Amino acid sequence: MLKGMPKGSDMLVGPHVSIAGELANAIDNGERVGATAIQIFTANQRAWVAKPYTDEVVERWQQAWRDSAIREVMSHGSYLVNLGSPEPEKLGKSRRAFCEEARRCARLGIRLLNFHPGARMGSERAECLERIAESVRMAMDEQPDAAVIYVIENTAGQGSVVGETLEDLAQLLELIDGGERVGICLDTCHLFAAGYDIRSEEGWTAFWQEFEGRIGLKHLRAFHLNDAKKPLGSRVDRHEAIGEGHIGAVVFQRLAADSRFDDVPMFLETPGPEEVWEREVTALRAYRSGEPETAP
Ligand SMILES: [Zn+2]
Ligand SMILES: [Zn+2]
Repeated sequence: MLKGMPKGSDMLVGPHVSIAGELANAIDNGERVGATAIQIFTANQRAWVAKPYTDEVVERWQQAWRDSAIREVMSHGSYLVNLGSPEPEKLGKSRRAFCEEARRCARLGIRLLNFHPGARMGSERAECLERIAESVRMAMDEQPDAAVIYVIENTAGQGSVVGETLEDLAQLLELIDGGERVGICLDTCHLFAAGYDIRSEEGWTAFWQEFEGRIGLKHLRAFHLNDAKKPLGSRVDRHEAIGEGHIGAVVFQRLAADSRFDDVPMFLETPGPEEVWEREVTALRAYRSGEPETAP
């Protein structure tokens, strides 16, 4: 941290913001709530095909980013994509959309591409993980020199999705075998919904021991900081404002204050609106700097 700066001000934190109107607006949307990191959808996440960005739009995006306090941007992949689909047509479509997403990230200078691994849709888990790994390898091979890091997000385990356990995530990393080009994003709400009880000191310590053993902290590229609307092990993916859900503020305080995560960007996917995001960002910075607990 630079001398003279308030404690916690160098923390990489901010919400998922809208790109409505124009891509560059996302930068303003982040800065308005005090963000130093933002997550965006680089295209309409409910559509299969995206209109390519013009050079002017890309230039305005890069200019706005350069002139801002935003230091990290993560893209969240499309919800339509299922890289583990057993149906050849859906899988092909998903792979094309994912490769296109990776190309867009490279063009926009976005380093982190976060995505949900996929869903089995009746197929075996092992086969599904194989298909996901193959899908990611395809995207990596298509752009061997791109600086894009493929960040696998843990899931809540709803429906037939995979990736709700550290075993699955570790297996995906091993199957993809992409070294530093592949990482993990941990979503606190999803962890909790999948049954990892990180609320107590013991549960927290045990979780990180398991994470270190199976995956390794060097692969941890991002956090999604979300409280949970539903109880432990619900397998329901419903986010709540920090401190307002079943996880509770003290866990986020512990996480933000943990020096192992000083360089790991933390993205909020809480319901907002902006005033709440601003309070959450401020509270997380206070947690980082070790100030006594303040509710967001
Ligand atoms: Zn997600
Ligand atoms: Zn979620």
